[in-house]
Amino acid sequence: MDLTFNERETAFRDELRAWLAANDPGPRPEDADEDATFEWMRSWQRTMAADKWAGVHWPEEYGGRGATITESAIFFEELGRARRPLPANVLGIVMGGPTLMVWGTDEQKERFLPHILDASEHWCQGFSEPEAGSDLAALKTRAVKDGDDWVVTGQKVWTSGAQYAKWCMLVARTDMDAPKHKGLTYFLMDMEQEGVQVRPLRQITGSAEFNELFLEGARIPDANVIGGVGNGWKVALTTLMNERSGLAFFLQVRLRQLLDDVIEEAASRGLLDDPVVADKLADLHVKAEILRLTAYRGLTAIEKYGQPGPEGSLTKWLWSDTNQQLTSFAAELFGDWAYTAGNRWAYELMRARGNSIEGGTTEILKNIIAERVLGLPRLK
Ligand SMILES: Cc1cc2nc3c(=O)[nH]c(=O)nc-3n(C[C@H](O)[C@H](O)[C@H](O)COP(=O)(O)OP(=O)(O)OC[C@H]3O[C@@H](n4cnc5c(N)ncnc54)[C@H](O)[C@@H]3O)c2cc1C
Repeated sequence: MDLTFNERETAFRDELRAWLAANDPGPRPEDADEDATFEWMRSWQRTMAADKWAGVHWPEEYGGRGATITESAIFFEELGRARRPLPANVLGIVMGGPTLMVWGTDEQKERFLPHILDASEHWCQGFSEPEAGSDLAALKTRAVKDGDDWVVTGQKVWTSGAQYAKWCMLVARTDMDAPKHKGLTYFLMDMEQEGVQVRPLRQITGSAEFNELFLEGARIPDANVIGGVGNGWKVALTTLMNERSGLAFFLQVRLRQLLDDVIEEAASRGLLDDPVVADKLADLHVKAEILRLTAYRGLTAIEKYGQPGPEGSLTKWLWSDTNQQLTSFAAELFGDWAYTAGNRWAYELMRARGNSIEGGTTEILKNIIAERVLGLPRLK
């Protein structure tokens, strides 16, 4: 593993650092509801897009910078380091756009890609269902052909940002008789129609990041099938493969910052002289460093073999575990104050509970590591 950047990567990082220093979306709206936060992130995405920083890993022909995997990692790391937010349409940029680039027709790319980048059309991911999360291929939402349209009936859940979305990456069952992975089709569904009902789910943090989707006779034109009828599983895998790439760097930097903030707060309260506190902070520091280096090791694997290795599962597991330990420790250390409504540490503590579920649960990640890294017998 070589951790030094080459000349091109260093130039990329320096240009980005200068741009981030000159461009600041201002503080996150205080006590704001999701709507204000979304608008703040959308406006930030527009600023990024104006200078071609919204989709750096996208090819230049689609409005990106053709960044390499390492440059893309640098991008997310620097964004986190500068304490800037992710662009509002992160699902469209990181997952939807790259999926269209692989599987979409020229017309689909032309129609959808520019609006993902310029933040004019927000995207969401309609994969999970009440009885199909880890076992995604068990999904039951049905799409039936009716003339030039498909008519969709079913329910999705956990759909992040659906309340702001114009388009949904929807996987539905189009062949009831085919084996479960084969009867699926990937659609782009217009969210602005009567057959689509979005109901926000309020989390323990108080905010509603995700939603339930009720689909009752929603219509999708045949032109919005991505990658062919019956090919949905493969197209969905492309989306999922893109989910963690690069973002791991953003998350590990955010964890590092959170740890630095805990240390600063603890120091201001004179808590660092307590050997138990110092010991715990040292332990968290070591874990944060392991996470950073493992993320780089994953990057080396992608560069060498062209695809992410099982290190991706290891980083996600380590990140969620460490973030949960860190936020629990912070709340315990700062006492009652940290548990009051509206307190930053209360939010961090409660939001971290979802880390071991979102983007693949810890148990599933452990299965992957057991089977594909350690070579243990496969689950039946
Ligand atoms: C914050 C957040 C945002 C999300 N955003 C989206 C989104 O935008 N779009 C979307 O489609 N989904 C989204 N999800 C859903 C997420 O992908 C699922 O929650 C996740 O895949 C788990 O599925 P499930 O909740 O149905 O749990 P289940 O799959 O039902 O699992 C329940 C429990 O059983 C365990 N388990 C299941 N199978 C196995 C096994 N084979 N071996 C061992 N243990 C097992 C799990 O680890 C878990 O502890 C989001 C989730 C969260 C928390």
